Amino acid sequence: MKKSVCFGLGGSRFAKRMSERAPMVDGCVFCDIARRTPTSTTSLLYADDKVVAFRDINPSAFRHYLIIPIEHISTVKSLQRTEDDYQLVSHMVKVGKDLLNRDAPNSEEHRFGFHQPPFNSVDHLHLHCLALPFVPRPDVPIADFWH
Ligand SMILES: [Zn+2]
Ligand SMILES: [Zn+2]
Repeated sequence: MKKSVCFGLGGSRFAKRMSERAPMVDGCVFCDIARRTPTSTTSLLYADDKVVAFRDINPSAFRHYLIIPIEHISTVKSLQRTEDDYQLVSHMVKVGKDLLNRDAPNSEEHRFGFHQPPFNSVDHLHLHCLALPFVPRPDVPIADFWH
């Protein structure tokens, strides 16, 4: 069976198009987390039938969570102007806000953002949710992070 490429910059154009939207993609780390495959050790902060939330493995702030759809959608560009997709994105933001309000109610600022292609770290749509202050990370300038 052909293995789909999930990491944005590595794949051929064809593989990328093939994996833009699918129930799940083999070898995608976020699909593994969303489907709770036995090899995935990530603990979920939240889960329902549409989205799951978990901690970023490389936190950039006091609290840094990721919200992902369970369906494999590669980037914001793969979203459609449909009521379903609009609901999905609003739901992701709401879940993120609720978690930060619960876990970092006194934070100076909450920030939410999607990557814009081609600046994807993982080729599965994810909403970054940060409660400031930022954690200094010499390897990743903040300005680059917020593309
Ligand atoms: Zn995926
Ligand atoms: Zn990211």
